[in-house]
Amino acid sequence: MAQSADPCTPVGTVHLVGAGPGDPDLLTLRAARLIIQARLIVHDGLVDPAILAMAPRTARFVSVAKSRSRHTMPQEAINALLVREALAGNDVVRLKGGDPFVFGRGGEEAEACHAASVPVQIVPGISAALGASAAAGIPLTHRDAASTVSFVAGQCKGLAEQDWAGLAGKGRTLVIYMGLATAPAITEKLIADGLSPEMPVAVIENATRPDMRVLRGVLAGLDHLVTTHRVKSPALIIIGEVAARQGAAQLASLVESVR
Ligand code: SAH
Repeated sequence: MAQSADPCTPVGTVHLVGAGPGDPDLLTLRAARLIIQARLIVHDGLVDPAILAMAPRTARFVSVAKSRSRHTMPQEAINALLVREALAGNDVVRLKGGDPFVFGRGGEEAEACHAASVPVQIVPGISAALGASAAAGIPLTHRDAASTVSFVAGQCKGLAEQDWAGLAGKGRTLVIYMGLATAPAITEKLIADGLSPEMPVAVIENATRPDMRVLRGVLAGLDHLVTTHRVKSPALIIIGEVAARQGAAQLASLVESVR
């Protein structure tokens, strides 16, 4: 076990906590309890302000917000910050949008803590795909439409070299995180892989938040959909037959939301 700076002070624990897709009601009880009791919160930009407002006023907040083009704090510096605070005896609530282990770099942070013998606890969260699916009434699997679902990151460098063959198509659902900027390349890649240009797609912006929008179309029109409606991050793209389905309860509000 690591030694803290002061031998009388026990090393703190780093909690890697999933804050879910936005709606504070979608926090786990464990996440809510940790936030309510937190003294130090290190959070991403994606964490909803209403969730941060649940923490005590006396808590210290450190934002390590990232955006696609602007990295406020490099990942190594975030790792070092978590370790430094824990070794100084502070329990850290590291709040991340969605789930910490789904495109959340939680794996790297946990490894950095392990390397420094800092105790880590992982608290899962509702990943954007699950929140968006529920909020939009789009089932990710369906007995009649899809028995496989894949999550991919659209932002990755070397998108063209990634092998997505077999991830989308009949009976399969593809969910793309961080895919707005690369929507034209994604469309081209999938059509080149043999996917029908008529395959249904849905784009869900700000899923589970009051300003959520759900837009639907077909693969060939994906970029047009994103551009015409000026879709902004955070947004998810769902590709597959399920994207044309919707729960009856959501129908009225969805029609409203795309107007
Ligand atoms: N760990 C997070 C994902 C972080 S990557 C999770 O499990 O959800 C960031 C991407 O997640 C965004 O670019 C977007 O594609 C997606 N995302 C996060 N929150 C979202 C939301 N409320 N609505 C739509 N997409 C969201």
